[in-house]
Amino acid sequence: MTNPIINHHVGGQEFVGESERFADVFDPARGVATKSVRLATTSDLDAAVKIAHAAFASWSRVSMTKRVAILFKFRELLEERKGELAAIITEEHGKVLSDALGEITRGQEVVEFACGLPHLLKGDYSLNASTDVDVYSLTQPLGVVGIISPFNFPAMVPMWFFPVAIAAGNTVILKPSEKDPSASMWIADLWKEAGLPDGVFNVVHGDKVSVDALLENPDVASISFVGSTPIAQYVYETGAKNGKRVQALGGAKNHMLVLPDADIDLVADSAVNAGFGSAGERCMAISVVVAVDPIGDTLVEAIHTKMSAIKVGDGRRSCDMGPLVTKVHRDKVASYLDIAERDGATIVADGRRVQPDGDADGFWLGPTLIDHVPTTSKVYQEEIFGPVLSIVRVKTYEEGVALINSGAFGNGTAIFTNDGGAARKFVVDIEVGMVGVNVPIPVPMAYFSFGGWKQSLFGDSRAHGAEGFRFFTKQKVVTSRWLDPSHGGLNLGFPQN
Ligand code: NAD
Repeated sequence: MTNPIINHHVGGQEFVGESERFADVFDPARGVATKSVRLATTSDLDAAVKIAHAAFASWSRVSMTKRVAILFKFRELLEERKGELAAIITEEHGKVLSDALGEITRGQEVVEFACGLPHLLKGDYSLNASTDVDVYSLTQPLGVVGIISPFNFPAMVPMWFFPVAIAAGNTVILKPSEKDPSASMWIADLWKEAGLPDGVFNVVHGDKVSVDALLENPDVASISFVGSTPIAQYVYETGAKNGKRVQALGGAKNHMLVLPDADIDLVADSAVNAGFGSAGERCMAISVVVAVDPIGDTLVEAIHTKMSAIKVGDGRRSCDMGPLVTKVHRDKVASYLDIAERDGATIVADGRRVQPDGDADGFWLGPTLIDHVPTTSKVYQEEIFGPVLSIVRVKTYEEGVALINSGAFGNGTAIFTNDGGAARKFVVDIEVGMVGVNVPIPVPMAYFSFGGWKQSLFGDSRAHGAEGFRFFTKQKVVTSRWLDPSHGGLNLGFPQN
């Protein structure tokens, strides 16, 4: 029996296109391919852009009141039916249902933020800037905007962008991850039910071919990308070269600095939650705990004790942590344990020995704790993106801060301490975009902007909040005078009064 095919959603309906290339979509907890997703050709993508471009002509002129009414409706439907979406996410990504619901809630907050967009879209007005001359500013949408999203948040990451883009009057082509494409199809249907005109929100599935087609198409005004650093850099450079506005969010290696005065129980809970939630497949996961002497041994013991209570299994059952997204990814993450052993680190808890509550063929890797990780090891230097928590010991606060600041990434970090002065100094000194103080995953609320520093973000704009709104709009300034007879006569200079 062949698996069902996931086609594109363009112009408000299923779109097949000409492509005969497919990718398998797995149920990671069962380890079987359950669906096939069609991978668009360049001309499939171009056909979708044409439809989105045509829809832009009318959507950009729909009144703000009507646009916001549709957003409100979308938000209400999402609130009512998010259980369905969570089940889809768990089936294709593997994260446990409660975590899937959590990501939808964070995405929904951006929809709620976008419902207030008329406030941000307001311009300024200066009466009589010069005699009888008024100056005012206004914002206009960009056109067709492209969104390219990663596998780890199939609902939340697209929702960082499309509510703001649509509220501002743009039309959207979403190219979701081919590993878990169904969430975006459910979202497309929800938009239709909410009354969004056809062609405003389109989903085109694919791989590098469709990403390149988005980057090349002259009618695509902007690209919002989230994924690994090498591809983020490629997308940023190629998009910018082609004259597009680009924001490209990349990978991460997030450190948690623990000072000796910190509350060990809180630290251990936080490290376990932030290290192993969503099987470590989060860009804001903590992957390195930096223990300042002499807290190391006590901390490792506390983390080890707490993590042994984590129940690994099928996300549809009552478990804390699910499988990894694919076998290839599971094996890649597990290979870092071999590297750790070779590099002289100590494996305190070995996730390869996990006994999951799930099918034996699932892509399982249990929570793993590695102590004394040398900072020269790939285990320390590379983004692993799985349930692997490393411990690095340092002698002082200064050594810890220098270590974190020497890293290539700058997405998220946290400090755990009861010393307000040390925490305040950390917030100022650390070269990372999102900082937690006794908070392990400092994901800002929708009305702030989300994004890291260094190799974690290419481009000038972060996601959502005021920066997200600016990214999806163009500003215009109008200088206006309504003539009366007194304005006659030649004057080649700037007006002075
Ligand atoms: P990925 O880079 O493999 O894929 C991201 C997107 O790029 C997907 O839509 C994919 O189809 C597309 N793509 C894949 N290969 C491509 C290529 N050669 N050329 C052009 N496009 C290509 O990332 P992933 O594995 O899906 O997601 C995990 C990564 O995303 C991690 O590095 C994680 O840190 C990062 N991430 C970052 C953030 C953030 O906010 N900074 C948030 C979530 C995930």
